Amino acid sequence: MISVSDLPGIDEALALVLSRVQPLALEDVPIGAAAGRVLGEEARAAIDLPPFDSSAMDGYAVRAADTPGSLAVVGHSAAGRPEARALRPGEAVVISTGAVVPTGADAVVPVERTTGEVDVEQVAVGENVRPRGGDARAGDVVVAAGSLLGPPQVAALAAAGVARVRCARRPRVAVIATGSELRAPGSPLAPGEIYESNSILIAAQLGLSGIEASVLPVVADDATATRAALERGLEHDVLITSGGVSVGPHDLVRATLSELGAEEVFWRVAVKPGKPIAFGVRGDTLVFGLPGNPVSSLVGFELFVRPALSALQGARDPGPDYLPGRLARAVRRNMQRDELVRARRVDDRLEPLSGQDSHMIARAAAANALVLIPRGEGELPVDAGVSYLRI
Ligand code: AMP
Ligand code: MG
Repeated sequence: MISVSDLPGIDEALALVLSRVQPLALEDVPIGAAAGRVLGEEARAAIDLPPFDSSAMDGYAVRAADTPGSLAVVGHSAAGRPEARALRPGEAVVISTGAVVPTGADAVVPVERTTGEVDVEQVAVGENVRPRGGDARAGDVVVAAGSLLGPPQVAALAAAGVARVRCARRPRVAVIATGSELRAPGSPLAPGEIYESNSILIAAQLGLSGIEASVLPVVADDATATRAALERGLEHDVLITSGGVSVGPHDLVRATLSELGAEEVFWRVAVKPGKPIAFGVRGDTLVFGLPGNPVSSLVGFELFVRPALSALQGARDPGPDYLPGRLARAVRRNMQRDELVRARRVDDRLEPLSGQDSHMIARAAAANALVLIPRGEGELPVDAGVSYLRI
């Protein structure tokens, strides 16, 4: 019997997962659909940004050397409608924000700093002018390969004239809940039955990171049904199963995966909750056997599945994205296993919730953080610095 101290820890298990990830092929993605994707190749500006010297203010385009002074207004440069004629000494052009600063002008006097038609205050060369290329130069790398494209990144690329980017295709992910006791919410429960929540949980975890799961029908703890379901699931890039990875007579998932030719890379990790998690591969398919207890499933996904999905899509830093925080009260440590404690974050203080058993998904509904409590003796005191994941 392997003792818990021989099991891989979280970092070791994650390294094993990531070592088996083959990044998915790249495809073209329109920039308007690229948010949430990982950029596969660095993306460079197609143009100088701004593409021309442009005004930062509504006012008058002038020659700084003519200010202060009384100037003759000779034209109008609006956004998208440049003034064609060049500015000569003593002249000014009415200009709006974002409009081309006409040839010959080298500053803009804001309208608030003018009187009549038109006496302008003094301005320096370059004042209120956004120089061409001041944000990015054509050819500059705007977003590096391996970056997650969030709102600022897609906006930057669109502004720099990038219409399409190269991103790894989205992983195709199957989710299979196993357990003869499971019923869909909304149907009546017979004695011994419970409502199935893990496929809802996992599909939500996937969906919020932009991956639409194929949720296959729940399978009973029956060898034939399990085999048929897993066979289908193995046709995906990632198969996530729930339940059936412990040591009971009805825990069929690991043995069936092995019959189907999957290599088990590890089974069980020194983590609480979620110890019985299994991870394997068959061909290019990654298989995560998450334990059935809902909180174990939640934790196993955040620790191992989410980073694997990021790595499949070519993320430079696949996570998990731990944040620093402080404990709002002392927490006893587990001697043998690192623990992910459900907590409520208020500012940067983390209040561990009561009800930490791995079946207590209703208690976990109050949580917005998983706090990592490293294994060891005694307790972490109030105010101890800790790392946590947002959930
Ligand atoms: P297992 O890992 O199959 O031994 O299941 C452990 C516990 O989690 C048992 O109490 C199961 O009834 C429960 N469980 C398993 N799968 C689910 C599921 N999909 N939704 C909710 N609870 C589950
Ligand atoms: Mg079960």
